[in-house]
Amino acid sequence: MELQGRRVIVTGAAGGIGSAIAAACARQGALVAAVDRIEAAIGPEDGLPAEAITPFIADLTEPQACSELIAEVGESLGEIDGLVNCAGVMRRGDLLEVDDDDWAVTFGVNVDAVMRLCRAALPSLIAAESGAIVNIASQWGLQPARGHIAYNSSKAAVASLTRSLAVDFGAQGVRANSICPGEILTPMLQQKLDDNGIAESELASTIPLGRLGRPSEVAELTTFLLSDRASFISGAAIEIAGAQQVG
Ligand code: NAD
Repeated sequence: MELQGRRVIVTGAAGGIGSAIAAACARQGALVAAVDRIEAAIGPEDGLPAEAITPFIADLTEPQACSELIAEVGESLGEIDGLVNCAGVMRRGDLLEVDDDDWAVTFGVNVDAVMRLCRAALPSLIAAESGAIVNIASQWGLQPARGHIAYNSSKAAVASLTRSLAVDFGAQGVRANSICPGEILTPMLQQKLDDNGIAESELASTIPLGRLGRPSEVAELTTFLLSDRASFISGAAIEIAGAQQVG
């Protein structure tokens, strides 16, 4: 129960990785605000105590949504000491294929909402004296994948934003790290496989460990980074990709 007594916001909690993170945080004893634009279906049916997970519906691209969410969660659960930004979208295409809308939507969810939530949460995280931020970036933010310029660029921004937070607020006790997953089997990845007519086994064969990653494996790393066990880890961008190289 390494997150006992902690209060953690997890965005993208209706998604493949976010729901696994929310459940893992609750299993480790945290009170979790599970945020998504659609209702996150996690709770007692997953063997978690009813009070462990409180769902919040928000479209994080709306300018006021992030500060309102932090205030609402504070009133409902108490001041937070952990923030996990996992909500994300992927629009495909190279620079001649993506339009302004693709770029704006990608950066709106993947970068602007992360920045606004971090900004709104910082006073609580500083007051907590051991506040922690975990932002879910992507391996493609470190090594760009072909034909995904908006997504790659947005995730590079997330990793850089996270390092900047670690540098600026470390003296106030806030740790900030990003996780850079490779191919993790979730609805987002399944959609990509379906769109491109690629079999799961074909993609798995490009990964040295021979399989796709599981959301629970990203969740395990997230709860570790939120916990005091990671007390000297800050400003890191940690790949979890089964040794796959993007090429
Ligand atoms: P997913 O599509 O299953 O989940 C994403 C969630 O974000 C969804 O529940 C969606 O409703 C939510 N969301 C999107 N826009 C939102 C908005 N405006 N407001 C509130 N919620 C919003 O995807 P996933 O595979 O679980 O990905 C989770 C995160 O991990 C994303 O940031 C993604 O970029 C990142 N990631 C995933 C993989 C992978 O292989 N699956 C690899 C690297 C990084």
